[in-house]
Amino acid sequence: MGAVLEAVDVTRHYPAGRATLRAVDGVSFALQAGSTLAVVGESGCGKSTLARLCALQEAPTAGSVRIAGQDAAGPARRTLQLQNQMVFQNPYGSLNPRRTIGDTLIEPLTVNRRGPRAGRAAEARRMLDRVGLRPEAFDRYPHQFSGGQRQRVAIARALMLSPQVVTADEPVSALDVSVQAQVLNLMRDLQDELGIAYLFISHDISVVRHMARDVLVMYAGRPAEQGSRDAVLNHPRHPYTRMLLASTPFVDPARRQAALPVRGEPPSPTQPLPGCAFASRCPYVADRCRAERPLLRPVD
Ligand code: ADP
Ligand code: MG
Repeated sequence: MGAVLEAVDVTRHYPAGRATLRAVDGVSFALQAGSTLAVVGESGCGKSTLARLCALQEAPTAGSVRIAGQDAAGPARRTLQLQNQMVFQNPYGSLNPRRTIGDTLIEPLTVNRRGPRAGRAAEARRMLDRVGLRPEAFDRYPHQFSGGQRQRVAIARALMLSPQVVTADEPVSALDVSVQAQVLNLMRDLQDELGIAYLFISHDISVVRHMARDVLVMYAGRPAEQGSRDAVLNHPRHPYTRMLLASTPFVDPARRQAALPVRGEPPSPTQPLPGCAFASRCPYVADRCRAERPLLRPVD
């Protein structure tokens, strides 16, 4: 199967007074059908912006997003948008408090005139069952549910239009650790069952390890390192990846050695950087790093 979501040099700059804020600065990847690509990095590195660009909630200032092989800047944009549905960190904010769960699930079908009207409630009930909620949930309101249950509703809503991709922006970060695994396992089961691909945004390496086939590490809006999960998380090559991993506890002492101490701050996103974005924090920094922007190249 081919790529369902491709980012080609995707860039998003925002005007910030006289300066330019480089939220996302040249990110490329291909997400394969039915697979999971995790995007990981510190707060402010551009993950949510990249998610909105990929879910076609916002247009890039340069570069392109392709969904199911079609350029999202073209006339198919609206249709392609339906193929990439978002799940957000905070299910409290993303569900309408005055709408029953049933109505919340039916709404995307109604708005997009999917299927016969009479069949929509049944579809919503089937989806409730699929995400592990009881039939009674249909007539209840968001405040009657726990955080984990609400996130199940948000996932159910995202799946109502049978998208090929779900972009999940920190989907378990607001949940208790004990509930996180349940929601993550649900997402994996749904992927096996339905063949959905996930663009999975997280700052949490252990969550990424559990979910992703491929990993993209972002730093200051730019890709630092990308590849298979095992390559990136078990054999990190970029000093930033090692630093990120160092902040995650490891069981395996052999891996702990590859880690470097965390120090310094990321550069200001409004400061133009001719060289490597990581230069100010890198233990291996050389003069050249401040002058030239290193390009990603394939290894092995
Ligand atoms: P992350 O999700 O990794 O924490 P974000 O994508 O939210 O990062 O933000 C990346 C940078 O872009 C931050 O400096 C943020 O302040 C800025 N930013 C995000 N959205 C906007 C916006 N709509 N307008 C201006 N700046 C933004
Ligand atoms: Mg974010």
